[in-house]
Amino acid sequence: MKVGVLALQGASARHVTMLARLGVQPVAVRSQADLDTVDALVLPGGESTTISMLLESADLFDPLAARLAGGMPAFGTCAGMILLGHEILDGRPDQRCFDVVDISVRRNAFGRQVDSFEADLAVGGIDDGPVHAVFIRAPVVEAVGEGVDILATVEGRPVLCRQGPVVVAAFHPELGDDPRLHELFLREVA
Ligand code: GLN
Repeated sequence: MKVGVLALQGASARHVTMLARLGVQPVAVRSQADLDTVDALVLPGGESTTISMLLESADLFDPLAARLAGGMPAFGTCAGMILLGHEILDGRPDQRCFDVVDISVRRNAFGRQVDSFEADLAVGGIDDGPVHAVFIRAPVVEAVGEGVDILATVEGRPVLCRQGPVVVAAFHPELGDDPRLHELFLREVA
């Protein structure tokens, strides 16, 4: 299976490493031609406003929206979560999202860069111990639609969700040495 990692801006490199380690063939996606070759896509952390803009200037927004609407599995982390949700709170007026997970996502909900933090999360579907999660200017899910499963929370707020073949995390599961969330994505959805 070929899994793409959107590589227009942000933290794509560690996702590539993690996927390769799990035995799938990672592909850096920067164009529609790249996108056409993959079976699933990781949307990494970074700056969602910038990624949204670059998706448009690369003529990739609409082709990617079509693939997602067609049921392509996707794993969005941090900025990637913002891009896959239904509604962006505290976004820039011109930033767009794909609306494949029925969540409202508030950007920078835990504060600024200096307020970045780490937490051990109990994750639904992972039974062999907590997942250590790194939150960097992280978003939070403020509203959740009916079809969405909440897989982990921080202070009662959802930070890991799934709807159908799409998984979204407010944190950075590619940092550190724990492949279990990528495994969960590959096993359950891709
Ligand atoms: N705050 C960033 C945004 O709004 C996301 C931060 C991240 O991906 N680590 O896009």
